[in-house]
Amino acid sequence: MDMQKQRLGIMGGTFDPIHIGHLITAEIVRTDFHLDKVLFIPAGSPPHKQGQIITPAVHRYLMTVMATASNPHFAVLPMEIERSGPSYTIDTVRRLLNEYGPNTELFCITGADAIRDLLTWKDLDTLLDLCWFAAASRPGALEAIDPIIARLGEKGRNRVLRVNTPQLDISATQIRERLRQGLSIRYLVPESVAEYIKKEQLYTEQ
Ligand code: ATP
Repeated sequence: MDMQKQRLGIMGGTFDPIHIGHLITAEIVRTDFHLDKVLFIPAGSPPHKQGQIITPAVHRYLMTVMATASNPHFAVLPMEIERSGPSYTIDTVRRLLNEYGPNTELFCITGADAIRDLLTWKDLDTLLDLCWFAAASRPGALEAIDPIIARLGEKGRNRVLRVNTPQLDISATQIRERLRQGLSIRYLVPESVAEYIKKEQLYTEQ
């Protein structure tokens, strides 16, 4: 790792909606790896969620902006929602390296569940050349990704960094389900996001 370079975290996700699991993970990776910034990048059309109905990008983008607004080290980029077609991380990473220049190191922040799918990611070999992966999870769940890392060979072993986080068993799926059932989501998402969901009447259809 080159400490002279600018260090940027990439927190990609559908964020449908963003929740405290995303925020806590991003903040812990940021501090553990001394990142200058974490860029939250809502996916336009996530390749692993094709065929699923997802909330219009403008809502997911605005909720991500609201959830991250109070953290001076967090920023939100609309680049994937502005692009048509599936959102591949390799395209995003190439574009960011182009924009921020060669004096930049990128860290893709993912939950352990996303690492389990890593072998299916587009142009994985090149991706491992271009960025670090910070795999965040609680101890125990992290060990479960070791066989995947082993299959990535030496490159993967060097590039995938494990981070212990107090992973909360919270998912956007669970939050959408609670909203459909009329249950509280207080403390699962920032208050501003909960209010926005209510105002826009998101996630209420059966
Ligand atoms: P859904 O339930 O709709 O699939 P999700 O809650 O998993 O959504 P995504 O937006 O798909 O959220 O996830 C973006 C990234 O955040 C992924 O890398 C995922 O592993 C990670 N992530 C999601 N929830 C958590 C959590 N509770 N703790 C740590 N990482 C998480």
